Amino acid sequence: MTAVLLDGKALSEKIVQECKKETKDLNPTLAVIIVGDNPASAVYVRNKERLCEKAGIQSVKIPFSKEATQEEVIHKIEELNNDPAITGFIVQLPVPDHMYVPDIIRAIDPKKDVDGFHAYNLGKMFLSTEFEDLPPATPAGIIRILEEYNIDIEGKEAVVVGHSNIVGKPISTMLLNRNATVTTCHIYTQDLASHTARADILVVATGVPNLITGDMVKKGATVIDVGINRLENGKLVGDVHFESVSKKVGHITPVPGGVGPMTVASLIKNTVHAAQRQIMEHGTQSKEQALKKYE
Ligand code: NAD
Repeated sequence: MTAVLLDGKALSEKIVQECKKETKDLNPTLAVIIVGDNPASAVYVRNKERLCEKAGIQSVKIPFSKEATQEEVIHKIEELNNDPAITGFIVQLPVPDHMYVPDIIRAIDPKKDVDGFHAYNLGKMFLSTEFEDLPPATPAGIIRILEEYNIDIEGKEAVVVGHSNIVGKPISTMLLNRNATVTTCHIYTQDLASHTARADILVVATGVPNLITGDMVKKGATVIDVGINRLENGKLVGDVHFESVSKKVGHITPVPGGVGPMTVASLIKNTVHAAQRQIMEHGTQSKEQALKKYE
């Protein structure tokens, strides 16, 4: 058996086109604060800018040097919170070690938190799907892939490997909201394979290249590989050993071209949604107004 590939790249293009229909009279503007010169961040930010353009979203990059202080960054965040021209913004992670991420995230106005990392937006997700207003982008992208390929969640055994605040915990919550029976594994889990082998839906987000091998998965399962790992030989691999696992399971996301593009597409979707909500509250703005201060 060879697994069906879950094509996140094609689906992300479809989402961008869906968003484009909605941005015409909306003029959303996404600001991206980027601190320092992390090369991977530079690539991610470029991808975000590219997809924003395709979706009809203005994007503005706000760079800080790696020596910038946390106070300077928080001051900028407060400025963006109060700026009606900016409908959504993110702080690209990681930030330099002298900054404390929870303080930075806490400073963001939850209404403009299009990464969905603020405790207010994460907390609301616990209530039900109805309150997943601005969900974190990677978990939202995973759910959309499952929906698009008609993979049932309700009543299924879902196993998540990884319990980070941006992937593992929120995707566990979103699967639970959809009535899966969820097990969340992590570095302290004993006998990982005994859990993964039960999974109808297996989500892996650990940052450990090829952690999950063919002998650890259930025949016919759906496997979502969130990991993006650059090997010493330059090759990009996920956390799942694609060759052995794809021979056994029913569906699998490739790396690259699976969850990565869906994360960016979900950010775009959140940006549109945040702009819609603000316009409902405060009325429209022109593109000129939106860009005036940042040209
Ligand atoms: P993290 O480092 O914050 O968390 C890693 C998690 O994996 C922890 O819960 C840890 O306990 C668990 N873990 C580590 N080693 C393990 C092991 N041997 N067995 C079981 N669990 C183990 O990571 P993160 O931010 O959630 O990211 C995870 C991976 O996903 C990274 O490769 C990251 O680059 C990638 N990522 C990709 C996207 C995307 O858009 N595709 C988005 C976010 C993160």
